[in-house]
Amino acid sequence: MTFYFLTLFPEMIRAYFGESVMKRAVLSGAIDLRVIDIRDYAQNKHNRVDDYPYGGGAGMVIAAPPVLRAVRDIEGYADMPVIMTSPAGKSFTQKDAKEIAEKESVIFLCGHYEGIDQRAIDAVVTQSYSIGDYVLTGGELPALVMADAASRHLPGVLGNSESLREESFENSLLEYPQYTRPETVEGVSVPPVLLSGNHAEIDAWRKARSIALTQEKRPDLYEKYLQNQNR
Ligand code: SAM
Repeated sequence: MTFYFLTLFPEMIRAYFGESVMKRAVLSGAIDLRVIDIRDYAQNKHNRVDDYPYGGGAGMVIAAPPVLRAVRDIEGYADMPVIMTSPAGKSFTQKDAKEIAEKESVIFLCGHYEGIDQRAIDAVVTQSYSIGDYVLTGGELPALVMADAASRHLPGVLGNSESLREESFENSLLEYPQYTRPETVEGVSVPPVLLSGNHAEIDAWRKARSIALTQEKRPDLYEKYLQNQNR
């Protein structure tokens, strides 16, 4: 799948895709990474893309023309989701991550400073997502969060497809606790069932822990789980 990132800080994006699972996904061809510097679409001597807000107020606003030129320079952009990162967007969920992963190409538009001129947003953005009720300095981290969450659903990105199936938010449950060697850490032993070799019992224990954890930590999710059970 192709990820386009439109940003004023391309190195922030490249750095993330230069490590770990994302790096392997790019090297294997599962992800085609295109990072576009909005500044390249400025048409003034100093490549300036921001300006003071009409009506006054603090901070700077990214102007519409370079954003519009950058988006429209992407071949086939009109058929791609153009995703804006915004605290005012819909809360991003695992379901949205899966939907993104089903697309061939996605464009992430990363805001910065006080945001992007509304006219550019109205003209090209197809959906806006927030990653939480707090304000970050820029849209690069949220765009990377969304791209990372989507990437895990692309074939070949994760080594073991099982690891997706039992993860948090699948079936509206949080994942059970994980343990690895050594068997005892500071006097605390691994739950004995995990050493039993009895896979039916292990599965039952994990399911029970998942349900109990979800009920305790995310009652909202637990309600959803119960509703799904009753369907
Ligand atoms: N003035 C904006 C407001 O009050 O909503 C905040 C602008 S913020 C400093 C700069 C950029 O960071 C935003 O345009 C957006 O792209 C991104 N951003 C900040 N917080 C975010 C969040 N919780 N989710 C998604 N994007 C966010």
